[in-house]
Amino acid sequence: MRPRVRLVLVGTEGEINLGFIARLAANFSVEEVYLVAPRVDPRSSEVRRFAAHGEYMVDRFEVVETLEEALKGVELAACTSARVGQKSDVLRHPVTAREFAERIAPRYDSVAVVFGRESVGLTREEIARCHLLVYIPANPSYPVLNLSHAVAIVLYELWLARAGAREPVERADAEALERVYRMLADIASRVSDPSQIERVQAALRHLIWRCPPTAGEASALYHLAKRLRARLEECSRGQGGADTDD
Ligand code: SAH
Repeated sequence: MRPRVRLVLVGTEGEINLGFIARLAANFSVEEVYLVAPRVDPRSSEVRRFAAHGEYMVDRFEVVETLEEALKGVELAACTSARVGQKSDVLRHPVTAREFAERIAPRYDSVAVVFGRESVGLTREEIARCHLLVYIPANPSYPVLNLSHAVAIVLYELWLARAGAREPVERADAEALERVYRMLADIASRVSDPSQIERVQAALRHLIWRCPPTAGEASALYHLAKRLRARLEECSRGQGGADTDD
């Protein structure tokens, strides 16, 4: 999956958070987790307990001393904070987690996402070492999330952007969409007011491609339209109209 994602946790203080984050790393297929000077034993039984089936990520934790070490080898480093938006403080002019995941991260082969300490977040120096600041929009009077919850939201957005193309049900391919469109456009050309045909066909085209339907839906629609057209042909034959083929 592009980009490779490295989760970087600075000075994490809570074993439960660390366990939950290992689990999230497994849930969202994060390639690497780096811990910068953690304040707890990162492989304690409590961490493992909360990691559940993500315990294998606990064994893969890379523990380092400095943020520099944790950022080595990644193209883009994004740090996170709830405290953003002061006009005069350019260090805290952020992008949203969604904007980061959809528009910025896909342009790189590898990105690090850096999260701060539960007690005091990231220092200004740490924020300054990263390329940009990401935030999760929330209630302005209480925007600070629990660390593992913030990690979950950012990883979820990255997951959607990285794997979003893989949908649970297969979408109709271009050929199937074209087939449905042609059938409906043909019906429109037979039954619409002549002055409206182009407009109706344009509406159908946009509607079909904007949806777009699943393969099964497109197939059902195509067969319905085909039967409708056959009925139309029967009617027009009854009225002495011309016959047409598919
Ligand atoms: N008291 C600290 C709270 C840190 S919360 C402070 O005021 O900064 C722990 C970490 O969770 C933060 O350093 C950040 O990485 C992440 N976090 C919490 N809420 C967030 C939000 N709304 N947007 C982005 N990151 C957030």
